[in-house]
Amino acid sequence: MLEVRNIFKTYENKPLLRGISFSVAQGETICLLGASGSGKSTLLRMIAGLEFPESGQFLFNQIDLAQTPPHLRDFGLVFQDYGLFPHLNIFDNIAFGLKMRNVPAEAIKPRVAEMLDLVNLTDFENRKVTDLSGGEQQRVALARALAPSPRLLMFDEPLGALDKSLKEDLLNQIRAILHKTKIPAIYVTHDQDEAFTIADRILFLHDGEIIRDGTPDEVWNHPNSVHAARMLGMGNVIEGKVLEMKEERGKIKVFSEIGTLDVECGHNHSTGDNVSLLIRQSGEGEEIKLTVEDVLFDRDQFQVKTGSAALSGEAVSKGGLVIHMKDAPKIGEIIRVRVKVECLA
Ligand code: ADP
Ligand code: MG
Repeated sequence: MLEVRNIFKTYENKPLLRGISFSVAQGETICLLGASGSGKSTLLRMIAGLEFPESGQFLFNQIDLAQTPPHLRDFGLVFQDYGLFPHLNIFDNIAFGLKMRNVPAEAIKPRVAEMLDLVNLTDFENRKVTDLSGGEQQRVALARALAPSPRLLMFDEPLGALDKSLKEDLLNQIRAILHKTKIPAIYVTHDQDEAFTIADRILFLHDGEIIRDGTPDEVWNHPNSVHAARMLGMGNVIEGKVLEMKEERGKIKVFSEIGTLDVECGHNHSTGDNVSLLIRQSGEGEEIKLTVEDVLFDRDQFQVKTGSAALSGEAVSKGGLVIHMKDAPKIGEIIRVRVKVECLA
């Protein structure tokens, strides 16, 4: 299907995208997750043919798109601000792409009705755009993008303007529609919750590069870099120093503020290297001791901020960990927690 090959893009001598490559398979939804300003919209505009890279290629079914103008690419776009035509009613908004493709009027009518059913807006044909809520307008925008049966759908932060409860509903609807229609899709967002709900595969865009590409499960279990771990809101990243390489491949012993730890590691470190570690609570992990510094109520559990009880003066760095507990401990109490530790870099 779509293949993005080694895309470079610079604005005002500042590199924005530095060698972006990925592909999207039939029926697959990939999510491009990156901070605001990381170049997500620019990449979508280039795939749509509205802008051009300095180098690199976009191919669809092995055919280079460089010579294909935007309206002949057969790609559908859904934007944050809906982009509906305010002077047209709902029918004419959804029919727009079909008319552009010279679809006969008698075929347009049932197709518009079918699309309205798909987005749960049956019989909305004669309504005005301005009479619709934000969520309804975005569903019309989705129906408009779907009507001409695009080869690829692109979503640019489509839920950005909606409030939380509407977001969840619409996200689930989009997900259901993508599964039903099997249209390959690229969904762009800076919101990790959205990304994990919608994506078959998540691509992290950071500093012009894709630093992680994997299923939600793979990415969550092995973020593989400090940036990805931070983007996922995994706060427990600490610094350490490699004490020794273990006999067992993929294991190292690391000195850190929470003690000496056996760590999973896929890198090629040597004794004395500084490393970043991701610490996660896990029933099967090794036990560490922590001092409770603060306790915050967090829905059905407590968020506990800790300092290290294992070492005091000699620590590499001191930041403590945030962990979750069913019952609130007392401030100053020493608690034992089982953790799994992974080397990030
Ligand atoms: P995102 O969608 O991830 O928030 P964008 O692709 O919109 O990021 O923009 C990334 C950066 O590229 C912006 O911060 C801006 O500096 C730059 N940029 C985007 N479009 C232009 C343009 N037309 N001219 C100059 N700089 C631009
Ligand atoms: Mg953007």
